[in-house]
Amino acid sequence: MPQSFEDFKLNPQILNAIADAGFTKPTPIQQKAIAPILSGQDIMGVAQTGTGKTAAFVLPILMKLKYAQGVDARALIISPTRELGMQIEENIKTFAKYTDLRTVVLYGGLGPKTQIAELKKGVDIIVSTPGRFLDLYLAGNINTQYIKFLVMDEADKMMDMGFIGSIHRILEVVPRKRQNLLFSATMSELVHKISGDFLKHPTIVEVAPQATPPVTVSQEVYKVPNLKTKLNLLQHLLKDVEDFTRLIVFCKTKVVADNICHYLQRRYGVDEVKVIHANKGQNTRINSINAFKEGGLRILVATDVASRGLDVTDVSHVINFDVPIIIEDYVHRIGRTGRALQTGSAITFSTPGDEFYLEKIEKLIRQKITVKEIPEGVFVDDTGYDERQAIAKEIDLQKRKEDPDFKGAFHEKKLKNIGNAKVVKPGDRPNPKSKVARGKEIKSGGGFKKKGIKFDKKKK
Ligand code: AMP
Repeated sequence: MPQSFEDFKLNPQILNAIADAGFTKPTPIQQKAIAPILSGQDIMGVAQTGTGKTAAFVLPILMKLKYAQGVDARALIISPTRELGMQIEENIKTFAKYTDLRTVVLYGGLGPKTQIAELKKGVDIIVSTPGRFLDLYLAGNINTQYIKFLVMDEADKMMDMGFIGSIHRILEVVPRKRQNLLFSATMSELVHKISGDFLKHPTIVEVAPQATPPVTVSQEVYKVPNLKTKLNLLQHLLKDVEDFTRLIVFCKTKVVADNICHYLQRRYGVDEVKVIHANKGQNTRINSINAFKEGGLRILVATDVASRGLDVTDVSHVINFDVPIIIEDYVHRIGRTGRALQTGSAITFSTPGDEFYLEKIEKLIRQKITVKEIPEGVFVDDTGYDERQAIAKEIDLQKRKEDPDFKGAFHEKKLKNIGNAKVVKPGDRPNPKSKVARGKEIKSGGGFKKKGIKFDKKKK
């Protein structure tokens, strides 16, 4: 196995840029993938983000393209999201800085004018999301005739996002004679299928078995009865400013993410907390990610859209405010910390309605996640009537998924033992103990808008 970048016989411009980036030794995926790519083979790379997979394909492509040539792109890199596309472009810029190679990154959500103007200036590498690439191609702004390298990054995410049709169309419009590289964090059935359509006798390089969380990340779960307790716990953890230096709080919906962000902003100020999700404008997202990278921003609240391709080192903690329902997202979320050989910590909040998914996650990662006691000083709130109903319905739904004959236990009597909470019926007098503690834990944070966060309730 090559132990240094010199072993790949890369040219001095690239080696100097690698040295400037501070990389001293290739990572395992780089050790395995760079030589076969240089020798012209198709590659199927099974590797998560955080393993150095971007440089594993970028370095040999730069080496092969050598210098700027003509107007039309010779390499096309398809990425599922804008964030990942920008990340790849940043990698290319880092390693191509002593060459004259030109890169354009294309994505939707912005008018195409600037992107078209850049393409016109001449380009060697296009990094693009599938839809925007096809739009610009169909409008006659891209000539694909000279494309010799086609990379699909995070192919599993592309399949999850329903890009299979676009991928097939892209395969139809690029020359047949080309080198193909496909990278994916997991090897799902659809990825397997697309790799069959796409790769010719590929060399398979794998650095971690399917869905293995990085070993550098410690994983813990707090079993909490309800949303309010999650908020109390989050606030409690965030008090530890020395340990929790830079964290991402993942939420399952945009609404929850917005509400958590507002809640935390009231406590810590708007400069310390920002939210990113698909409804945020492109510039807002870029500004938030940059502020987070530069260290000015301590807390980034995000949905799963943002969990891929977000390359920020020194993320001390990932907090799963909600257990992800697409269980593979768990691995991607926690891969945001512990990157590039550093250590990190992933903390998950799980309500009784989440247990089902938590068990599935443990099966997927083939590990038990350590259960932590709720720390002293965190008030365990009562579960409100609506939330108890929503949780019970969710549990019924899950049981029905496992057993279609299940009749449903959704009944008031059965709700009594959800979490640690006492049953409080509408009209019950509030527990005086909870009043005091709530005053301490929540109101000091500026109060949480009651109507703000709601569990996803399924209408009968
Ligand atoms: P990736 O998996 O491509 O998203 O890369 C994850 C992180 O690892 C990025 O911050 C890279 O800059 C970093 N990285 C990639 N290769 C190396 C290397 N050989 N040595 C140190 N860090 C690296």
